[in-house]
Amino acid sequence: MVLPILKYGHPALRQKGARVEKITPPIRQLIEDLLATMYAAAGVGLAAQQVGHALQLTVIDVRGVKDRPSSLELAGKPADVGGFMPLVLFNPIVTPLDNPIAGPEGCLSFPEIFADIARPESVHVVGMNEKGERIEFRCGGLLARAVQHEADHLHGILFIDRMSNEIKKELKHQLDQLQQASKEELRKKAKP
Ligand code: ZN
Repeated sequence: MVLPILKYGHPALRQKGARVEKITPPIRQLIEDLLATMYAAAGVGLAAQQVGHALQLTVIDVRGVKDRPSSLELAGKPADVGGFMPLVLFNPIVTPLDNPIAGPEGCLSFPEIFADIARPESVHVVGMNEKGERIEFRCGGLLARAVQHEADHLHGILFIDRMSNEIKKELKHQLDQLQQASKEELRKKAKP
């Protein structure tokens, strides 16, 4: 089922996700819904927080993006990125492997807002997959950026928190408008 994506200003986006230790039927349903919602929105990643669940669960699929390469290493060997998608990732622990570089980024919770964000080009990741198995990999390029962006969501961190002050100032008007619209929508829903 395609779920509504919460926009900036909704408090759920600031919630830290609880670790998930077991793949229960509701969790399996949430994975399906996250994937359906991400594909419907033509996104590269979606975190549980963005549909109102404070859990350490995110889904990623970089196959739709052709002009920004990704790399993957499994057990120290180069691996096929496409064959690793969609990536369902629980409880990720992300360790940077090199220095941050700036690259363009957007977020489904911030429609029409894009900015350059500095993040390490490649990272080491440990987590759990949809079968409840421990997974470990290294990745670079767009996939590394997506993993870091999504892992941030799971801790209530948003990409605006990683923007330079200069860019944030430029976007202030758009961000304020978006935040206000989300709060207004919440107020309307809260009315009996
Ligand atoms: Zn996002």
